[in-house]
Amino acid sequence: MTLLDRARQLEDQDPVKTRRDQFHIPQRKDGGDMVYFCGNSLGLMPKAVFGDVQAELEDWRDLAVDGHHHARRPWYPYHESFRESGARLVGARPGEVVFMNTLTANLHFLMASFYRPEGRKTRILSDAPTFPSDIYALQAQIRWHDGDVNRDMLVLEPKEGRHCLETQDIVASIEEHHSELAMVMLAGVNFFTGQAYDLAAISAACAAHDVPFGVDLAHAAGNIDLNLHDDGVDFAAWCSYKYINCGPGAVGGAFVHERHATNEDLVRLAGWWGNDPSTRFQMDEMTDFVPHPGAEGWQVSNPPILSMAPLHASLAIFDEVGISSLRERSKRMTGFLEECISAIGEDHYSIITPADENSRGAQISIKVHGSAQELRESLQATGIVTDFRPPDVIRIAPTPLYNTYEEIARFSQVLGEQVGATN
Ligand SMILES: *Cc1c(COP(=O)(O)O)cnc(C)c1O
Repeated sequence: MTLLDRARQLEDQDPVKTRRDQFHIPQRKDGGDMVYFCGNSLGLMPKAVFGDVQAELEDWRDLAVDGHHHARRPWYPYHESFRESGARLVGARPGEVVFMNTLTANLHFLMASFYRPEGRKTRILSDAPTFPSDIYALQAQIRWHDGDVNRDMLVLEPKEGRHCLETQDIVASIEEHHSELAMVMLAGVNFFTGQAYDLAAISAACAAHDVPFGVDLAHAAGNIDLNLHDDGVDFAAWCSYKYINCGPGAVGGAFVHERHATNEDLVRLAGWWGNDPSTRFQMDEMTDFVPHPGAEGWQVSNPPILSMAPLHASLAIFDEVGISSLRERSKRMTGFLEECISAIGEDHYSIITPADENSRGAQISIKVHGSAQELRESLQATGIVTDFRPPDVIRIAPTPLYNTYEEIARFSQVLGEQVGATN
């Protein structure tokens, strides 16, 4: 059986069907679909988004200020319509999740409450390689509190010769340093290696020592089946333009665990939209901020409707499939990709993503022994979109909503030809 036949058979046999027809697939110049493996960077556009954004433009044009209460989807409670579906997506309870701002902004707003260095407890434990924006944000928080970046950044590196961290090493580091830790902040899925961390185990270690645990879910939300509530994570933030397919710069998401919902002692950078809606407009009488219970209490401004509109179409697709089913399809697809790449041999590149399917999401990162940049460009020339991360890594993300097994087979054939292997 050829690789293509095998791919078609895997597609037919997969009980979780592709939602490809609900997305716009970028086209090659000569016609035909591109093979798009970059959904971990910018997800494809759900077809229904066009109509949803247009509806908001029409309602603004026709209703102006009355749209706050009389638009087809009224703007005043707009963010509330994602309470349930947003919570389902990350394994949270309704009220623990809100869509607002953008990712790095949300990290800052949440750290304003959860990074409270005091006495000897000033340090932040994070994972390497760290995404640049997260490094800047962590360093800025430390400086904001007059800390010392060299002392307070505790960045955990993989062991010599390894690419990924071990859960036991992260836990051991928390045990070792807990008396100095003011916060632990990790990725849910590491952007570079594609490694998914064991959040439950890390969360338990943090809770045992009363260290707040925050997670950057940029590469995890919409990718793996998270259980933020049960895992006991304190707070989390993510963007919606990667696996959540809501378009460039889309509105991000934030999670705050229920146990903090009504804690009015938590300091926060407040604004009117985080105030209890029943008194939000009593601006003359009510000068004291009354936080809305739950994650919504961290909102600052009223929601950007045009930017939020794509969430409806996107979350509806996730609800239709269910994140757990999607994750099963994703494991099978990523497994097939790994198998195809491994079959080409290790002479030209090696996989740095963990082999255990529970320790990774929909991404395989390969370390290229020649020029990774050139490889990315020659793949692109054949209509295959991947991405290059310096110095020598190519990331391939088969996104289970719209990628197919056949695309994986076609990619592998081209990859094999590139290195002169017979495949
Ligand atoms: C994509 C990504 C970001 C991007 O931050 P924005 O504030 O949305 O621009 C930040 N952190 C990580 C880990 C990412 O993967």
